[in-house]
Amino acid sequence: MYNSYLPKKLNIKKVAICIGIVLMIILAILVGKKLGIHQFSYQYVQAVQEQANVLEQEKQIAKEEEQKRIEEEKKKQMLTQEQIASVEGIYHAEQKRVFLTFDDGPSQSVTPFILDLLNKENIKATFFVLGNRVEKQPEIVKREYEEGHYVANHGYSHVYSSIYASPQAVLDEYTKTNEIIKNAIGNSEYNSKVFRFPGGSSGGYYDAIKTQAKELLKQNGIAYLDWNALSQDAAGAKTKEELIQNTIQTIGSKNSVVILMHDAADKILTYEVLPTIIQYLRENGYTFMNLYDIL
Ligand SMILES: [Zn+2]
Repeated sequence: MYNSYLPKKLNIKKVAICIGIVLMIILAILVGKKLGIHQFSYQYVQAVQEQANVLEQEKQIAKEEEQKRIEEEKKKQMLTQEQIASVEGIYHAEQKRVFLTFDDGPSQSVTPFILDLLNKENIKATFFVLGNRVEKQPEIVKREYEEGHYVANHGYSHVYSSIYASPQAVLDEYTKTNEIIKNAIGNSEYNSKVFRFPGGSSGGYYDAIKTQAKELLKQNGIAYLDWNALSQDAAGAKTKEELIQNTIQTIGSKNSVVILMHDAADKILTYEVLPTIIQYLRENGYTFMNLYDIL
């Protein structure tokens, strides 16, 4: 009994030690594994974080580059201070030169006839188009552009209480009209760059708004242009003789002339007197120019 008991007791001790060792090994493996997994997951989180940081940085750089591109694009479309000065100084020139300008168009009943005549006479003019008119006759403005005339901006509405509601309203009408011109001529990068205030850039009930609007336009790289001669085709003159006389009188002895005329739907007389006016200017030594020549 004793002999058989002792070995049995020793075996239990051995078994217990063995189990202990096995448990220790298992524990060591588990702890090791756990540490390993922990380290792995820490590294993983760190890698993901770094990746996210890189993406965020790339996004930031792309955003800054896009911003820079937009600003450069805008700058490209803005007139430089020198160009604005050359529009402002348009009335001063050594040589005799004349800018024929037509406002309030395009119109189906007048503009194409004027374009045909300018074509025949090989003269490039400047058209201060109205946004709401360009919407109706975009193909005529496209023709003006393609034939080398300068398509400038006369705002959208021509309604004084709308466009002169605030200086910002002037800029908004400019921008709206510019978008319409872009679509009409099929050039998404076009900018008319020169604005003509309906009714002129100063005086009248909205003089204070106009003064502020001029500054706002300038800040946005946009020049404005009035005139120093006119046929009065929009105000008073009823006959061909009157139109011609008014034009010649206001040209006077000026060297650099900007003539205000209109190609709105009811201004067929303007077209009809144009050959006489052109002839007068040629005979008096004027060179025909448009805004492309000074910008
Ligand atoms: Zn007008």
